[in-house]
Amino acid sequence: MKVGVLALQGDFGAHATCLRSLGADPVEVRTPADLADVEALVLPGGESTTMSMLLESAALFDPIAARVAGGMPTLGTCAGMILLGREILDGRADQRCLAAIDISVRRNAFGRQIDSFEADLTLSDLPGGPFRAIFIRAPFVDRVGEAVEVLATVDSHPVLCRQGRVTVAAFHPELSDDLRFHDHFLRGI
Ligand code: GLN
Repeated sequence: MKVGVLALQGDFGAHATCLRSLGADPVEVRTPADLADVEALVLPGGESTTMSMLLESAALFDPIAARVAGGMPTLGTCAGMILLGREILDGRADQRCLAAIDISVRRNAFGRQIDSFEADLTLSDLPGGPFRAIFIRAPFVDRVGEAVEVLATVDSHPVLCRQGRVTVAAFHPELSDDLRFHDHFLRGI
């Protein structure tokens, strides 16, 4: 199964490694032609302001928005969560988002790089014990729309949400030494 990983910036390589370990065929997406070839897409962590600019210069913004709106299974982690939301809080004025899930996401909401942390999350979709989640200059969700399911919180802030086939996480599942998160995503495709 060809699973795209947006490869403009950030830690796309770690996602590709997880997907390959699970038997999928990760495709680095840098152009609209790359996107046309995949069944699902992962938007990685990194820097959402930079990714927003690069999505525009690569002419990928509208094609990705259209594919996601058309029901393509999509996972966004950290900066990817920011990009997939409807509204960005504490963003840069020229920063765009894809409005693929009805949430408002606050950038750097847990603090600066030095405030990065790990937390054990109990996720009902993942049997076998808590998932060790790594938060790096992470956002959290400030507002969720009615169609959005909140799957995990930290200090009562939503950090894992789903709407239809779009799942967003404020943390970095690709950096935990645990493939259950990606396995669950692949099973849902
Ligand atoms: N703080 C970053 C941003 O605003 C996201 C951090 C991350 O992806 N680890 O884009």
